[in-house]
Amino acid sequence: MRILITGAAGFLGSHLSEKLLLEGHSVIGMDNFLTGDPQNLAHLTTNENFSFIRHDVSNFIFVPGKLDAVLHFASPASPNKDSPYGYPNLPIQTMKAGALGTHNALGVAKANNAIFLLASTSEIYGDPKEHPQKESYWGNVDPTGPRSMYDEAKRFAEALTMSYHRFHGINTRIVRIFNTYGPRMRLDDGRVIPNFIQQALKNEPLTIYGEGTQTRSFCYVDDLIDGIYRLLLSDIHEPVNIGNPVEMSVLELALKINEIINNPAGIIVKDDKRLGDDPERRRPDISKAKTLLDWEPEYPLTQGLSKTIPYFRIKLGIK
Ligand code: NAD
Ligand code: UDP
Repeated sequence: MRILITGAAGFLGSHLSEKLLLEGHSVIGMDNFLTGDPQNLAHLTTNENFSFIRHDVSNFIFVPGKLDAVLHFASPASPNKDSPYGYPNLPIQTMKAGALGTHNALGVAKANNAIFLLASTSEIYGDPKEHPQKESYWGNVDPTGPRSMYDEAKRFAEALTMSYHRFHGINTRIVRIFNTYGPRMRLDDGRVIPNFIQQALKNEPLTIYGEGTQTRSFCYVDDLIDGIYRLLLSDIHEPVNIGNPVEMSVLELALKINEIINNPAGIIVKDDKRLGDDPERRRPDISKAKTLLDWEPEYPLTQGLSKTIPYFRIKLGIK
């Protein structure tokens, strides 16, 4: 297939580009480097099946030649209000990438009669009142809250994708991605795993936002990309959760990372850093992916972290 990936220079987009090239596809990456990094694609630039277009997806998308699939990943993704890459600091860009960007990406898919896959998120469930989260759950989102620029943009993107599917017959997919980590996350992205690994490697205390009792379920990037690839090759138009169902508190995560890295500095509580509406609990119900895609994650957290920590060591210049 000849595939356009928006957000290709980001964490997930770069791993997805790599996977699709390995599977024998031809990839056109598109990005404006708002939160991504050209370095993430540096190793692909000599591949004759890879090309790159620098472009903001909020503007009309044109790609010469026939496309078979469009994968829309362009969007800020970190909720950290203290990171310049966090969506609370990029609210208009985030809404434009989710709304105008999804419209333009669907438009180019329609013009090519191509498959369209939307990178949606567990954030569409908001601070969930159902646990674990099944695809049938409608969510608990404040439309004007501090995370609304991201949550509502993604909810709109899902609705627009289903509208293109139902009204125009576009061959669409929606993946609801739960917390995923791995190499190529930005050091200064502000999400919990890069923050904690970086702090532990520098022998600093790990910053726990709130009491650390809030839970998440962390998926290693290779598992997620495998699930997304299976979804792309399927014919499922309804949303599918992809994530690791092993749930833990943020405090447990911090203790685990300090133990692996042997960080003597412990933890520090930073109440004022916690963004409002921070979900208390999050865990995917992955029955649908198991049944329909024959997919489930393989990497336990310890193994995924052991593949991630060396990347941050190199980035920080720490031996
Ligand atoms: P990322 O910030 O590393 O990647 C996003 C990429 O999109 C960046 O390269 C950025 O420059 C690009 N981008 C942003 N706005 C753009 C625009 N207007 N035009 C062109 N490019 C633009 O984040 P990520 O973690 O790789 O997330 C990728 C996608 O997956 C996002 O849509 C995000 O919402 C979704 N997602 C990620 C996770 C996760 O745990 N990593 C969880 C849920 C959903
Ligand atoms: N968090 C934390 N310390 C940090 C960064 C994040 O305690 O240095 C918490 C954050 O408040 C949230 C959880 O870790 O409860 C996961 O945050 P992340 O930014 O990774 O993404 P989210 O799952 O909230 O989208």
